[in-house]
Amino acid sequence: MIISDNPLRLTCPRCGRFKHIRTILSGNTFGARGWSDGQWYYPMMPQPSPYQKCPQCRHYFLLDEAKPKVIILKSIPSEERAYRKRMNRLFGRSPLQDIPDVDPSTQKEEDKLRREAKNNWFGELGLYELAEAAKDILPRCKTAKQRKEFYLAFVHEYNDVITGRIDGIHSILLDEDKFRLLFEEYAKELTVVRGAPLTINAEMCRELGQFDRAIRICHRLLNAGTDVVAVRQILAHAEAHDPDVFELHFEEEQS
Ligand SMILES: [Zn+2]
Repeated sequence: MIISDNPLRLTCPRCGRFKHIRTILSGNTFGARGWSDGQWYYPMMPQPSPYQKCPQCRHYFLLDEAKPKVIILKSIPSEERAYRKRMNRLFGRSPLQDIPDVDPSTQKEEDKLRREAKNNWFGELGLYELAEAAKDILPRCKTAKQRKEFYLAFVHEYNDVITGRIDGIHSILLDEDKFRLLFEEYAKELTVVRGAPLTINAEMCRELGQFDRAIRICHRLLNAGTDVVAVRQILAHAEAHDPDVFELHFEEEQS
């Protein structure tokens, strides 16, 4: 079950102004769907987007940089303790210390925060915004892993838009070539194998049409017993020279 209410306050690291987004109290993975590119969709467990845009100065920033802080609304006091504990755990703060002084004092103020958070959802960025965000986000990624997470977020969003896999809407992309080039650039970064290969290395080779390389990586993964159910399906699509992202099927493998 989702109980969604207390907003998460983010502070823009550039202009210092606030942005409020939604949070959830509890969720589950019911209805989860997974795709070959590692995209998972949990309808009952949405999470704040790791990349956010300031609505005031239009700067893009990482969620972690924005001092995320849950605003406890007075109208739901009974949930407060559990809620703070959960959210503080999520954002790595010591429980029950960091928050109380920011409670909004009036009902009117509460309603305003709640409305703003509802409108912002979880701060998810669309494809156009993610393309634009690269200039702000990538220079501030401290590790190769953080950069790869950003590349993957773009690849997922690109595939979402191209396939309409989550909402069934096939969007028409203006500047399609530009987005395709960015997709190829980022996907290529994700094909690089360091040490042991990852499923995403194989999948990105396949999506770029490098089928022989994808097949070789799949065999290495299968030999190592890594991600067997997904890798077998990726291998089959690579052998068929199919570069399209596809939804993974788990049930037939179990029978
Ligand atoms: Zn700002």
